[in-house]
Amino acid sequence: MLNKEVISYLSLGSNMKNKIYFILSGLKEINSLEETEVLEISSFYETEPWGLKEQENFYNIVAKIRTKLPPLILLKKLQEIEKKLLRERIIKWGPRTLDIDIIFYGNLNLNLKELTIPHKRFSQRNFVLKPLLELCKDRNLNKFLKKDCGKIDKIIPKVGVSSCLLGKNTKYNGGNNKNKFILMIGKKIKFIDVCPETFGKLECPRSPSEIKNGKVYSREGKDVTEEFNLGSSLTLNVLKKNEINTVILKAKSPSCGYGLIYDGTFSGNLIEGNGVTSDLLMKNGIDIISI
Ligand code: ATP
Ligand code: CA
Ligand code: CA
Repeated sequence: MLNKEVISYLSLGSNMKNKIYFILSGLKEINSLEETEVLEISSFYETEPWGLKEQENFYNIVAKIRTKLPPLILLKKLQEIEKKLLRERIIKWGPRTLDIDIIFYGNLNLNLKELTIPHKRFSQRNFVLKPLLELCKDRNLNKFLKKDCGKIDKIIPKVGVSSCLLGKNTKYNGGNNKNKFILMIGKKIKFIDVCPETFGKLECPRSPSEIKNGKVYSREGKDVTEEFNLGSSLTLNVLKKNEINTVILKAKSPSCGYGLIYDGTFSGNLIEGNGVTSDLLMKNGIDIISI
């Protein structure tokens, strides 16, 4: 039997390493869960730690999702995402790469050992309430806001993104890879868009290219390695100039692919590897999210 679709609100927080990277990666993973979509996110907030004071500031957001996953399955999937993104539980309320809590799940009230909904402590926490209030205006949550509860500052993170994901026609065939999820999170982030192929002065439209033996060739066999190298170093320059350490790149492309790329035979086969630009950015400490 199909489950009913429910609107749920999730709180995401990070206070270790590249916090923006972990929150955005978490959102990407949540959006990829079966029968689940991230509909809207709140602004990003920088907040003082709660519970255990002696640790780095947090970044917090709330995400509104629609899902058909039952609550306990959703919890399990969210915990798998935390784990994939290197969450370790060592100290209670201690530092974490990513924490994802279920705040509401439709109008459900649940009180199990492993899952309480609404979340037991959400109404004591301005770092949950402030972002939650942006998205959820019909539950009279204002009354819970505490006046003096430490610093909670709205921030606008700067993140790099492949131009084609924003809908710019920079793809080899003259089209784009406009992505609804990217456009949605773009409302709360300042995107700096980059296209290594455009920076490398390749024509558009053009023949597709793939990597073979460390070089890049067009389908007709023309060596375009130099253009791809130029594009990658200019992309790195743009990101460095903007002090960006997180970038969302189009999967599988010979410049932006990350983890998987085409095998150089133009037959649709994928192999392990990185595009030219991804490789350079990775070596320069920039965290890559592949979409
Ligand atoms: P807090 O729950 O106070 O925010 P925390 O998020 O640091 O603290 P975790 O170690 O992430 O705590 O979670 C502890 C347990 O809380 C989880 O194993 C989970 O079973 C349980 N839990 C209960 N209710 C919820 C909920 N609504 N969302 C997420 N986890 C929950
Ligand atoms: Ca929590
Ligand atoms: Ca948690």
